[in-house]
This record gives sequence, C-alpha cells and structure tokens, in this order.
Amino acid sequence: MNKSIDERLRGFPAALAEQNELNAVIADISDQAIARVNGQKGPLADYLLAIKDNLNLVETETTCASRILKDYRSLYTATAVQRLLDAGAHVAAKTNLDEFAMGSSTEHSCEGPARNPHNPELVPGGSSGGSAVVVATGLVDAALGSDTGGSVRQPAAFCGLYGLKPTYGRVSRYGLVAFASSFDQIGVFAGTTELAARVFESIAGHDSLDSTTSDQPVGTFAYEEEQARRITIGLPEEYDNEGVDREIRERRDDLVTRLKNDGFTVKGISLPHTDYGIAAYYILTTAEASSNLARFDGVRYGYRSPDGQNLEAMYTNTRSSGFGPEVQRRIMLGTYVLSAGYMDKYYIRAMRVRRLIRDDFLQAFKEVDLILTPTTPSFPFPIGGKVDDPLTMYLSDVFTVPMSLAGVPSMNIPVGHGSNQLPIGLQLTANYFNEETIFQLSRFIEQQYTF
Ligand code: GLN
Repeated sequence: MNKSIDERLRGFPAALAEQNELNAVIADISDQAIARVNGQKGPLADYLLAIKDNLNLVETETTCASRILKDYRSLYTATAVQRLLDAGAHVAAKTNLDEFAMGSSTEHSCEGPARNPHNPELVPGGSSGGSAVVVATGLVDAALGSDTGGSVRQPAAFCGLYGLKPTYGRVSRYGLVAFASSFDQIGVFAGTTELAARVFESIAGHDSLDSTTSDQPVGTFAYEEEQARRITIGLPEEYDNEGVDREIRERRDDLVTRLKNDGFTVKGISLPHTDYGIAAYYILTTAEASSNLARFDGVRYGYRSPDGQNLEAMYTNTRSSGFGPEVQRRIMLGTYVLSAGYMDKYYIRAMRVRRLIRDDFLQAFKEVDLILTPTTPSFPFPIGGKVDDPLTMYLSDVFTVPMSLAGVPSMNIPVGHGSNQLPIGLQLTANYFNEETIFQLSRFIEQQYTF
C-alpha cells in the first residue's frame, strides 16, 4: 500500500473543508478511493486525481451542475475515467462546472460559483473551473476536465496550470455527458508538463465504445532538449491586437525574445479566418447542444417536475425549471439556427467557416510545428462581472475556439504572473495528433525559463 496516498485520502475531507469557500467540489468520493487503495499499481499510482462532474463514474452521482440531473446515478464508468483507475490513479472528487459545461466562469452552476484560489473575488475560468481550482490548491495532483471551446485551457490559464485539450478523437468521449459532440474532448489539468503528459497517455487511444476515436498510436513522452530546440514556432498576426491585455502581450513577446535568443526559429503566420471563429462556434455548438440535451425530458433522467397535467406540460415544466438560464438560451439558439428556413443561413454557413478555419491551421502547419498565442485576452474577471452579458462572456473564448473548430491539440502553459499577482497563460497549438510536440516545447520552457 502506498502510505502517503492513504494518508492523503484519509485527510481529504478535512483538506477539502479548508478550501470550502472556493466551492470547487461537488462530491467528495475519497471514501471510494480508499476502498480501492490496496494494490493500486501503474503509472498513476502515486497520484490523487479529480474529475469534472460531467464524467460518469459508476456508483457516484453525475450532476453536470444541473438541477435536471438531480439524484441521477452513473450507470457505467466513462472510458477515460476507467483508464485512470486502470493506471492506478486515486480519484477523490467530482468537481464543479458550468451547467453542462456551457460557460467560461463556473458561475452557471446550480451549486453556485467556484472561486479563483489566487483571489476568491474572481472567477477561476470555466467550464472546468472546479478541476482547475483543486489542482491549483494542491488538493489533488491532476484532474480531468472537458474542453469544447476552451473549458480546460482557459481555466488552466486563470489558475496557473498546464491544461491540455487533446486532438479531437484522441480520447474517448464514452461516458462524458455530451454538449457538442463534434467538439467535446476530455482534457487534463496538472502542475507540470510531465504529469499532464502521463495522464494524457493513460486516457488516450482508440475505444470501441466511441467510433470517433482514432487508432493512431499514443507515444510515451520523453523530454529531449535537442528535439525541443528544433521546433519552429508561428505567431499568428490575428492574435495580436489591442483587445489583448498589455501585460499578456508583453509576456508573450518576452517569451519569444528568449526563444529567439536560444536559437529557435519564430515566424509570423496568418490564420485569416480567426475573426469568424466565435460566430461559427456558437452556431454549431448550440445546434449540437439543442439536439444532445433533448434527452433530458423528465422521463429518462433525474428530475421530473411534479407540475404537469399532461405529457407536454410535464416536459415543458421539467425543462423550464430543471435547466438554468444559460442552458435554456443555448437550446433556444440551437433550435433556431436549425429551424426550417434558417438552416442554410446559419448552420450550413457555419460549417463552411469551420472548414476554412481548419484549412487555415493546415496551411500554417506547412510552415511551422507549433503556434504560440495568448490563451485568453484578459486576466480572470470578477465574479458577477460578465454573467449578465452573454456576448461579452462568449467573446472571452476568442483564442480558444478556433482550435476546437479545427480539432487540433492545444495546451495552456503557465508563464508567471502579472503585476496584479494573477497567472498569465499562453497557448501552444500543434497539428493533429502532435501532442508530443506541445509537450517538448512546454517542458523546454518550464525547465529553462523563470518568469
Ligand atoms: N466557454 C465556452 C462555451 O461556453 C467553452 C465551453 C467548453 O469548452 N465546454 O461554450
């Protein structure tokens, strides 16, 4: 038995209570992990992990931070979670999120907002905010989140962590509650490149239960400084504008100067359709969400409104009181963009834009191995600051949604703090299935530079 893990698990409820105000955890499942602690072997046997509460783990509730899933218990375990357990990991908690992973701040949660450990008046980012918080405070060593348009990378940036969104199709979505199926990927939070890579390798790879998973082999990351030094880096002009906080731009420029001094090739590139990313993303993901969330009807899952004289009234009342306002907004938007007469104007056009954005990346990767950008245009914002202004909230995803539209892998790396003591994150994006290249440069930066 691993003594230190056993002690950490037994002390888990007390450690969690100490950070109660951060509201990062929906369910403490450390007792389940204790029950399993004997004989855990494998690459993750020394680590405590948490998972976002839109991932199924049998014998636990899966809430998606939604009233509509009240009392719903997982009937099976998500493939990614099962693979963590098979790798020996101790899964101690299910974490807070924006309802059904729709949001950028973890404020849209029926459990109330999670808070940023660097300053509890600020958001931790979202939608996987709870997972970011528990890694940032050291309560656990790593965590799983899901990233549909930035929900791992942006909270990683706001909390000062490594946060990877793998290539679409790298990690099985079986057992992840669907938001927008052609975008959703399970991702990883960790405090080091090495651990992010280890967790990623444990969960990645083909799964017969998810036909969109790829059978591309998953390597084992081994840092090679010489290999890292040969990586060429592209800086897209579209990610460099006045809308980006000055200190974030300066930190990127500072990193680029250091990389050039160390002999790296850094080039200007263009991703010309970047500006259309947000519009296309919010059309396509709401369309998919409106379809995916149709299953929550008061019959098949969780909550049912007691108030309904007939079937239709029961559906209506269940969905009106079970879903929060952001989820309802997206279901309505998605239903609208798919409706007869509007489908060509919105959905089909957005699909065309998605192709153009993908082509932008493919073109760029003919010239460079990695693309370096800010992860977010701003520092973490105050709780309550954007929650009543959906458009402003959506615009904060401007640098993370293009990679999700294209399906390429992308990771936030922490690069120190601003003068406000808050974390700054930069984003490394690679071509399809080249997570390894991201890890190489990330590790180089982690090892060579202090910020
Ligand atoms: N913030 C984005 C949204 O609201 C991304 C969410 C996510 O990646 N799950 O859709």
